[in-house]
Amino acid sequence: MPAHGLHYLIDILMFGRPYPKIHEAMDAAQASLQSNHRMFFHDDLNLEKTIILENSIEAGWSFYYHVVLDGVSDEVGQQESVPAMVNRLLNGQIPFYFSDRGLLVRIAAIGIRNARIYPSSLVPPKLPYSFK
Ligand SMILES: [Zn+2]
Repeated sequence: MPAHGLHYLIDILMFGRPYPKIHEAMDAAQASLQSNHRMFFHDDLNLEKTIILENSIEAGWSFYYHVVLDGVSDEVGQQESVPAMVNRLLNGQIPFYFSDRGLLVRIAAIGIRNARIYPSSLVPPKLPYSFK
């Protein structure tokens, strides 16, 4: 299962801040139960409780992404879990919570602002090099 640092990394990419209390609470049973820890505190009822107790919908998304990262990690391994999850966020396989404090959104905004974007119907511009 992913180390807490990987859950914090997803938080920073999506919200611009970590939610350590949420991940600690969700994985409180991990020491004794290993992967079976997900039988506890990894369900929709606890997601709803998190939103209410933290008075934060974003905290609910942190909970949501915790469960998703646990699942992706099972599929592709811990090493590949964050890049695989980011790829799925960007291609729409995982719902994308849009926060303008999220690092992914900020990177994308800066990238799009600075990019010279060509719609797919346009041919490339004049070549930047001429070899004589
Ligand atoms: Zn977990």
